Amino acid sequence: MAKSYGLGIDLGGTKILAGVTDLSTGKVLGSAKKRTNSAEGAKELLGRLGDVATDAIADAKLPKGTFVTSAGVLAPGQVDPERGVLLTAPNLSGLGNLPIAESLEDRLDLPVRLGNDVQGAALGELRFGAGKGVDRLVCVFVGTGVGGAIIRGGELDRGPSATAGEIGHLVVFAGGRFCGCGGRGHLEAYASRTAITRVLLEELRRGRPSVLRDLLGAAGIDENAPGGMAIRSGLLAKAVAQNDELVLETLQEAGRYLGLALASAINFYNPERIVLGGGVVEAVPLLLEIAAPIAKREALAVPGALVEIVPSKLGDNAGVVGAALLGAQSVQVAGLR
Ligand SMILES: [Zn+2]
Repeated sequence: MAKSYGLGIDLGGTKILAGVTDLSTGKVLGSAKKRTNSAEGAKELLGRLGDVATDAIADAKLPKGTFVTSAGVLAPGQVDPERGVLLTAPNLSGLGNLPIAESLEDRLDLPVRLGNDVQGAALGELRFGAGKGVDRLVCVFVGTGVGGAIIRGGELDRGPSATAGEIGHLVVFAGGRFCGCGGRGHLEAYASRTAITRVLLEELRRGRPSVLRDLLGAAGIDENAPGGMAIRSGLLAKAVAQNDELVLETLQEAGRYLGLALASAINFYNPERIVLGGGVVEAVPLLLEIAAPIAKREALAVPGALVEIVPSKLGDNAGVVGAALLGAQSVQVAGLR
C-alpha cells in the first residue's frame, strides 16, 4: 500500500509547530517551528502559518513520487470546524474570526481542516499514543491552561457545543479563585502554569527563599505567555531537581487540585484510562505522581481501582500528529462523496 502523508500544524499561544506525519505510523518526518508573537495582526499570523507549513514540507524530504495529501490545524480556542474559521482565541491576543482553512488552502493547494487543540491532541494519543485501543478514555493536558477531551467508542465525543471534556473548568473550590473564563474555583485557576506562576511570584514578593530567585533572571519568565506572564516549565523542573521547598509546595497544591478534579471525572465518566500530558506534565512528571494517587483514592472505590492514569506518549508531537490525523479525516470524507 502506498504511504500517505499528512501535514499537521499546532498553533499555540507561544509557538507554531508544523510537521509532516506518516499517517500509517504516526512518525513525524520533518518539522518546522516559529514563534506566534502575539502582538502581530491577523494577516501576519496567517502568513506565518503558511511559512511554517511550507518549511515543514521542505524539511520532510519525502521520497520521490509521494506527496502530502491533506493538512490539519489545531488552534487554542473556539473553532467553527465546518467553515475552518477560528472564532475566538483569548490566548492569541484576542484575534478572532480568522479564516485559517481557506487561507492555507490557497497557499498550499491542499484540503485543510481546523480543530480545537486539546481534542486534536487527544486524537493523536488515541491513534498512536498512550490511549491506543482504549474505548473510554479521558485526556487531560496541563499547560498555560488545563484542557481535556473525552473519547468514547474510539471516537472523540465533542458534545453538541463542542465543549465536552472541559475539565479545566470543573469547580474544585466553591467560591474560590477567579478563572480566566470568568467563573470561580475552577481547576485551571489552581493547576495551570499560569496559576502556578501567580502563586510563586506572590510568594517571592513576600520574601520566601527559593532557588527561583537565581534561576528566573531575564529569560525565565515568558512575558507574552497566554493569560499573562508565566514561568517556563523547564525552569520549574530545574527547581524541582534542586528540591526547592517553595516550588515543591506549590506543585503539591496544584497536583492535589488536579487529583481531585480527576477523581470527579472518574466518578462521573468511569473511564478505563486517563492520559495526562501538556507542557507542565512533560517537564515536571512529579505533577502526575502527586495527582494520580489522590485521584484514585478520592474516587469511588470501584471505578477508582479500575482506571489507569498514565503519561502521554506523543509529548510535544501530540498536537502535530493529531492535526495531521484530523486533516486526513477530511480527505476520507471527501472520498466518500
Ligand atoms: Zn474556568
